[in-house]
Amino acid sequence: MRRKEKEVCSREVMERLLGSAQIIRIAMNDGGEPYVVPMLFGYRAGSIYLHSAREGRKVEVLRKGGLVCFEVEEAGEVQRKDTPCKWTLDYVSVIGWGEPRVIEDHDRMREGLEVIMEHYGGKAPFEFSEASLSKMLVVRIDISEMTCKRSM
Ligand SMILES: Cc1cc2nc3c(=O)[nH]c(=O)nc-3n(C[C@H](O)[C@H](O)[C@H](O)COP(=O)(O)OP(=O)(O)OC[C@H]3O[C@@H](n4cnc5c(N)ncnc54)[C@H](O)[C@@H]3O)c2cc1C
Repeated sequence: MRRKEKEVCSREVMERLLGSAQIIRIAMNDGGEPYVVPMLFGYRAGSIYLHSAREGRKVEVLRKGGLVCFEVEEAGEVQRKDTPCKWTLDYVSVIGWGEPRVIEDHDRMREGLEVIMEHYGGKAPFEFSEASLSKMLVVRIDISEMTCKRSM
């Protein structure tokens, strides 16, 4: 990282952001072309959980395997300064990498979907019918590395 004073190494800060960010961006290598999609997600114990329809460009790429890169952030206030070049925005962001695994077994999908539902809806018993599960899939990304940067 170029500006060391902005680096935040604490795993706790990263996990807090992964627990509160609303949107994750998943970057993939689609045959040499970069491809990024914003998605909803959940985080538990070193893994990110996504859900998706069964078809589409993203799923085709994820099924092929290979590392993906992800990013989440929380943006705060614009900091107005006396000169334009010093204006900034408060933020904290995490960038990480991991191997995606497509999950199609319904029981394991339910576990992943619960992580996502809890992320947005809190703890509750959630019901996922067989019919709706057969129209979707879950992707688990086991995080191999992540970094964090904060500007406050
Ligand atoms: C806030 C937010 C949350 C989302 N959450 C989820 C989620 O949890 N799960 C999920 O599956 N999808 C989610 N989406 C939609 C997601 O971003 C993709 O559009 C969707 O997953 C389809 O991706 P695909 O590669 O299969 O698209 P395809 O239909 O195969 O894409 C074909 C082309 O359409 C364009 N395209 C696709 N998606 C987008 C996009 N979002 N914006 C602009 N152009 C696009 C690209 O050029 C792409 O090459 C979310 C979108 C937003 C904005």
